[in-house]
Amino acid sequence: MKLFNMAVPKDSISMIFDSTGDVENYNTTIFLHKSKIELAEQNNEFSKHIVLDLDKKNRDEKIIKFMCNQKYGTFLLDFLNADFSTAENAYNTFFVYYGIEGIGSLDDIKRKYPVEYSTRYISAKKFLDYYSIVYELVSIDYIKYQNNLRRTVDFIFNLHEHKGTKNIDKYSKFMAYSSAINLIEQFSSSIRLGIVRNLDKELPNEMSVKQLEKLALDIANKKSLNSIAYVYESTSFFALTYIALNDLIQNTKRNISVCQNCGRYYLQYSGKEIYCELPNQDGSPTCKSYASRKAYDIKIVEDTAELAYKREYQRRMTKVYRASEVVKPMMRMEFNSWKDKARKQLKLYRENKITSEELCNWLDKNK
Ligand SMILES: [Zn+2]
Repeated sequence: MKLFNMAVPKDSISMIFDSTGDVENYNTTIFLHKSKIELAEQNNEFSKHIVLDLDKKNRDEKIIKFMCNQKYGTFLLDFLNADFSTAENAYNTFFVYYGIEGIGSLDDIKRKYPVEYSTRYISAKKFLDYYSIVYELVSIDYIKYQNNLRRTVDFIFNLHEHKGTKNIDKYSKFMAYSSAINLIEQFSSSIRLGIVRNLDKELPNEMSVKQLEKLALDIANKKSLNSIAYVYESTSFFALTYIALNDLIQNTKRNISVCQNCGRYYLQYSGKEIYCELPNQDGSPTCKSYASRKAYDIKIVEDTAELAYKREYQRRMTKVYRASEVVKPMMRMEFNSWKDKARKQLKLYRENKITSEELCNWLDKNK
């Protein structure tokens, strides 16, 4: 799914949230400090993403108008999971992806630091000078608002210490909690709302009632996209996170959860997941793939037949490895022939076609 949001704003960021297409789009100005653009999918220019590049040389840094299509919910999760403890951490976990146009307090900034503001994209040094004074100005607000937004999310989705006992709809919980902690009073920014056409295919010039009803049904059944998209433009990331959370609650049935491995917030698909699939900054495997490998290892330790297979495999491999060069080729051939047969037996066992005992017996007889 490709959303095309041409309204490139100045001094702001614009966003589209499309739960049906499982995509969201943002458009803003980015200064490529310590970051670069990569394609998430090869040859798909709509899949441009910002990735951290901490070793990047300063001279490559430049200002770009950046449009990104990412998975629905990413912006809200990035904000919830960001580390706002220092300017550098905040940059590396959040502002590097979304730029600084939505950092907030723009009138204050322009008034207090007019020179820094007007020259902020001229060089990396100017950018950092501007970023550090602005972050100093807003950091306490960010930590407070993030904490309040996290607590709101915890209350709505029964996370952390919140163990909801009553079956209350999420929107009502959202309203109750966000009112109690004055969430919307923590950002004063107004949001500009635009409407753009958003159809995945061209429609014929004239449509019969039958065709129209078919299209309406497709939209209702989410086989076709909503024919319009709302574009929210703002100078406040806070305001946009509020819209994002509201959209998630009103337009989807999906839940936010907390990953049992890394503790980050993530968006569930089925509602049964316990581990996230969020990318890691160091490129290491996701929690979900790590957890399934761990579960597999545990399963093997507890499974005598699997363990017997693994031990015999290791024993034979070590033997080949330790053999003298003269007999090695011969032993390797033997090993390969055993491996093929053993794997067939293991496959039968894993498909429940032979018992654990039968596999162990086979391994014994073929020593
Ligand atoms: Zn995780």
